[in-house]
Amino acid sequence: MSSWSENDVALNPAQEDVLAVLGASKDERPRFEKVLRHELRRALDDALEPFVGLLDARADTKPGDNMFINKHALGRVMGCERRFLAEEAEEFAWSVPLARGTIAHKAIELSIHWRREPEPLVLVDESISRLSEGIDGLADWLQQATEVERAELRAEANDRVVKFLECFPPLKPGWRPATESRLRLEIHDRFILSGKVDLALGQAAGELAGKVLIDLKTGGFSPQHLDDLRFYALMEAIRLGTPPRRLATYYLDQGRFLPEDVTEDLLFSTVARVGDGVERILMLTSGQRDATTAPGPACRWCTALPDCEDGQRHLSEDEDDDSW
Ligand code: SF4
Repeated sequence: MSSWSENDVALNPAQEDVLAVLGASKDERPRFEKVLRHELRRALDDALEPFVGLLDARADTKPGDNMFINKHALGRVMGCERRFLAEEAEEFAWSVPLARGTIAHKAIELSIHWRREPEPLVLVDESISRLSEGIDGLADWLQQATEVERAELRAEANDRVVKFLECFPPLKPGWRPATESRLRLEIHDRFILSGKVDLALGQAAGELAGKVLIDLKTGGFSPQHLDDLRFYALMEAIRLGTPPRRLATYYLDQGRFLPEDVTEDLLFSTVARVGDGVERILMLTSGQRDATTAPGPACRWCTALPDCEDGQRHLSEDEDDDSW
């Protein structure tokens, strides 16, 4: 990514910050041993092996079904277990908040290859149109969305694209930008780790790390954002052998990065977190133990709140504190 500095357009300070955080000379990039890929894979094999037997004991699946593990499931089960079970019981349905990220990322992808000055709303409309032609659940929802849902989706996706184009320098093809880049890792032929990276830039050169994985967020910081990208870094490290160089959550509303360098310790601690998360999910969904609660700010919008005394107590204590 040495070409970050080769931009021929005048950059605003936010765009210069992006270059400063994401760029690195060859001397600054870490080198990882080839054997790391095998060590990580073995560690993940060992961490998940004790739970293969539990897979078929789950109430929600048939014997032989695979278990899909993504950042959302891990993040939710490592938060409040009772809320995790309540959300697992709900049927998935596309909505404006769920679709806006995918639409915006498609628009950003189009902007990279657009031959004219990219106009955010034109890109968003093209993106909605392309994704409506698919054969998946999102395409079905887009085809049936009401006029109001479509207008909201257009406005919210446009806001993300405008902010991205304002804050990021124009992405050059030489930086190898990839949006919604899919990652997948199969362990013991039963556990499927999967995810989609919002934006990946750069590439490894042999054992010299060079890729940066970026998650684009609206709203504020959550510790889970760090864990999300670490999960992707682990999959990428096992896939490629050379891990990404850096992880970066970018808060579009604030024009601010939360960067983190990838290290071997970070990758092995992520293996441990995946093992813990899978154990929790399987113990809970197979009824081997009861869910614990972890009251917090999320109680306010938790669907289990009407039946959850811990959450209700937490919120009423919160209100008492506020009154002071
Ligand atoms: S209300 Fe709070 S404590 Fe209760 S399940 Fe929901 S998030 Fe957990």
